[in-house]
Amino acid sequence: MSNHFYDALVGAIPSRDKSAIELADGKRISYGDLYALVETLSGHLIRSGVKPGDRVAAQIEKSWQGLALYLASLRAGAAFLPLNTAYPLPELDYFLTDSDPSFVVCRPETEKDVRGLCAKLGRIHVESLGVNGDGTLLKNAGGAPIQPVVARGPDDLAAILYTSGTTGRSKGAMLTHENLYSNAAVLKDYWRFTGKDVLLHALPIFHTHGLFVASNVLLLAGGTMIYLQKFDPDQIMKLMPRATSMMGVPTFYVRLVEHPGLTKEATKHMRLFTAGSAPLLAETHDAFKTRTGHAILERYGMTETGMITSNPYDGDRIAGTVGFPLPGIEVRIADAETGRMLPQGEVGVLEVRGPNVFQAYWRMPEKTKAEFRADGFFITGDVSKVDERGYIHIVGRSKDLVITGGYNVYPKEVESEIDAIPGINESAVIGLPHPDFGEGVTAVCVRAKDASVTEAAVLKALEGRLAKFKQPKRVFFVLELPRNAMGKVQKNILRETYAGTYAKGLA
Ligand code: AMP
Repeated sequence: MSNHFYDALVGAIPSRDKSAIELADGKRISYGDLYALVETLSGHLIRSGVKPGDRVAAQIEKSWQGLALYLASLRAGAAFLPLNTAYPLPELDYFLTDSDPSFVVCRPETEKDVRGLCAKLGRIHVESLGVNGDGTLLKNAGGAPIQPVVARGPDDLAAILYTSGTTGRSKGAMLTHENLYSNAAVLKDYWRFTGKDVLLHALPIFHTHGLFVASNVLLLAGGTMIYLQKFDPDQIMKLMPRATSMMGVPTFYVRLVEHPGLTKEATKHMRLFTAGSAPLLAETHDAFKTRTGHAILERYGMTETGMITSNPYDGDRIAGTVGFPLPGIEVRIADAETGRMLPQGEVGVLEVRGPNVFQAYWRMPEKTKAEFRADGFFITGDVSKVDERGYIHIVGRSKDLVITGGYNVYPKEVESEIDAIPGINESAVIGLPHPDFGEGVTAVCVRAKDASVTEAAVLKALEGRLAKFKQPKRVFFVLELPRNAMGKVQKNILRETYAGTYAKGLA
């Protein structure tokens, strides 16, 4: 009996003694240790009543034992369902009610509350797992008999990941064994990961980036990961000599270029730095290159699809672009309304088809139907264009498009102009309800250190650089932009904060 993705991971184990994971304090977890725990946990899931296709939900801190729980779920034929640790109890209630898991693992400190919640929801087995392996899970799993690997085919469910849900309720993206396997295999080859790699892993593992892009790829390559709880530039610089590669969100790189230790010498042994989950500013890309000689490789993807495009390994890694479609993945740019394919250079919504694209939204058939074209392409909602050299540019999310006086304004275009103004560090452009224009273009900016640039100065600088309708009607300043755990600017929060800006009588 075969288990599509799990068997591939087991087949990639380089040797039982080799380090799969290293921790900041130098502790090593060998492949043998990791998979021994996977077998025990898998046995415990099964004896606790987890059946093939059941959901195993986990709202836990990052740990190597947490990674083992994910692999154990695959081995037991269950669907792993990681949840952001930032969700408070009422939100957890939504996710657990919606996903209907049979096994839930939470943090030791939330165990009492989670048990209470689960008791209300029905027959759910609850355990806890702390950062150092504390909690009930490992204790109770000890001695669980090893069970045969549960058979799973390519189209069987491997995981459900909830999308960040910045508009409406979060949706559970159902990912199959083939979704995970095909994407990890493609990235491993495209980015040339091998058993010699040691990855600095400071991403959370409740998200596609840290769990599937980073962990799956390194496990499939038989490499080693240095698992860190959070991103700390000092710690990263200290551990850099042990690594060959790093995967990060743009904020990691913004913070690294501020670090005095970031030099050519300190990074000369590094093979690869990748960025994604949010746009990497060209400025950060350039500053990193000047300091280290390394061109950060930017890639693009989403929870529903895994990775879709990547800048090339060999060849030009162009700042501000997300590169080309990955092998085996089809991408097209279409008119959002009609679905008509657009010629090269025109701005439209990026659509994708391939073995990486998820099956459906969990228990939301209507939503699923609305976001797929009849020929199987998934509508990502990312507004994009392809340049003359075939590089894809992400211009923004379609829901962030501002429509003012009937004209479309792509925030990225305005943000790029604002970011180029001396004294501005970064900006976010949003549309706010406006009595005359429908929406008013509004900029929220972060000043550079010690700068005192004003609203009037920003507006003046944009005159003649952007069409009148694209120029912001108001400019606000904040100390920092609200971002989620993956470094994405939360424009929904900005829209709420400034909602009344153009209320009648004030505009
Ligand atoms: P998530 O599902 O949380 O991974 O978010 C996916 C979304 O992040 C995509 O639909 C894009 O809007 C955005 N995203 C991911 N990578 C990039 C990138 N390199 N540049 C711009 N946006 C990105």
